Amino acid sequence: MDQLPEDLTTAPAHPVSAVLALGSNLGDSQQILHDAVEALRAHAQVHVTAVSPLAKTAPVGGPAQPDFLNQVVLIDTTLAPYELLELAQKLEQAAARVRDIRWGPRTLDVDIITYDEVVSDHPVLTLPHPRAQQRAFVLTPWAWADSEATLNGVPVTQLAAQADDAATVQQVSTRQEGTP
Ligand code: AMP
Repeated sequence: MDQLPEDLTTAPAHPVSAVLALGSNLGDSQQILHDAVEALRAHAQVHVTAVSPLAKTAPVGGPAQPDFLNQVVLIDTTLAPYELLELAQKLEQAAARVRDIRWGPRTLDVDIITYDEVVSDHPVLTLPHPRAQQRAFVLTPWAWADSEATLNGVPVTQLAAQADDAATVQQVSTRQEGTP
């Protein structure tokens, strides 16, 4: 952590907002995403402010593999950016993600899309996430969760509509829906 710039390792004095993108296409994806959101809710330094509906999306790149379930979670947090990355990686490990094939199937992938106004080109934590702007599987559920959101000054709804994979994203109902 020595070489990381201070703005990635300094915890904020007051809670700041961040956007997390979750994806899964291996195992019981709906349960895995549910458990990850619950773990975020249970964290003392994270306050979940919105959870998007689930999006079923076709994989972008990589080998032939099942469709993904994606979800975007908006939080307020007092964790430093790097601490939030460590939490994201802990959630991935808890879901027993096997990092063998790049862009291959995964039980859980957690990306930090934005963290407050922090801009970073560090490879350990690049902010805003460098590929989010082109990915409807992030942008569309994000827009469902927050229709006013912007990324790099552009409305997320607009970016979502322009993304190459826009047509592959479908909202899915959850098992819990309809239960009292
Ligand atoms: P991936 O295989 O897509 O999960 O990439 C994981 C790697 O990306 C990790 O080594 C992270 O340190 C790095 N990374 C860089 N920027 C980010 C970000 N904004 N969110 C999550 N991981 C990131």
